[in-house]
Amino acid sequence: MRRVLHGVGPVLIGLAHLGCALLLVTGLGLGAGLWALALYVVRMLATTAIYHRLIAHRSFDAPRPVWWIGSLIAASSGQMGPSWWKAHHQQHHRHVDTSADPHTPLHPRKGWAGFWYSQLGWLLSPEFHPAQLPADVEADPVLRLIDRLHMVPVLALGWLSWQLGGLEWLGAYCLSTTLLFHGVASVNSVAHLVGDQPFATGDASRNNGWVALITLGEGWHNLHHAMQSSVRQGYTVCGGKLVLLPDPTYWFIKGLERLGLARRLRIPSDRALLARAVYGKP
Ligand SMILES: [Zn+2]
Ligand SMILES: [Zn+2]
Repeated sequence: MRRVLHGVGPVLIGLAHLGCALLLVTGLGLGAGLWALALYVVRMLATTAIYHRLIAHRSFDAPRPVWWIGSLIAASSGQMGPSWWKAHHQQHHRHVDTSADPHTPLHPRKGWAGFWYSQLGWLLSPEFHPAQLPADVEADPVLRLIDRLHMVPVLALGWLSWQLGGLEWLGAYCLSTTLLFHGVASVNSVAHLVGDQPFATGDASRNNGWVALITLGEGWHNLHHAMQSSVRQGYTVCGGKLVLLPDPTYWFIKGLERLGLARRLRIPSDRALLARAVYGKP
């Protein structure tokens, strides 16, 4: 049953791509455009701050409702529920850039074939179904429910968009969902292919400013692979010194902390970061 429920995910992403065609008929006005942008930013932050930095890496702690509401919003992206998400992400870090990495652009395919596989193709492969789900997420009945019924917030947000502004807003929702999907996927693909490697990780992860821009800070992926538990990913090294890079997801989590909705943010010491630096490179 779980595999059937999870299997709905790629269908929804496919429908979002097709739904963008609505805009060819309706056009995209300012209101619908702003709706698409707002949905992109809010759902990207839920994915990066809650799915990735909180649930997958525990780089900070938060009251339980933050986990639930954040997961509900992240699931409305059509990028599956928290158990599936964490399972795949752990497999990526554990087997990074080997044939056991579910979405590496480097094995076994390379070049454009590898890029497209890591961007989209792997959703249609047997790799899509994780062998095991993470015990901590599965132990929370609310998160487990969101994981299995991940399609409900996706469909509900589509219905709301349609109610608010008809087919144009539904098309804007599909566009936002499609761009969001490719934004997050670019961390798997582009940020393992293009960019610099200021930190020694032994893998192909890279810091890529363009990916960081569209993912609100997740493109500083080389640092993330070097220091997975760091709540802040925006670091590089220049002339032997640490340099901070823009990391909107980190700023968002700091905002949550000020509101009492995040605590125990894990920041590595400068010394620990510099110990991972590759000197002599920008
Ligand atoms: Zn990676
Ligand atoms: Zn990660």
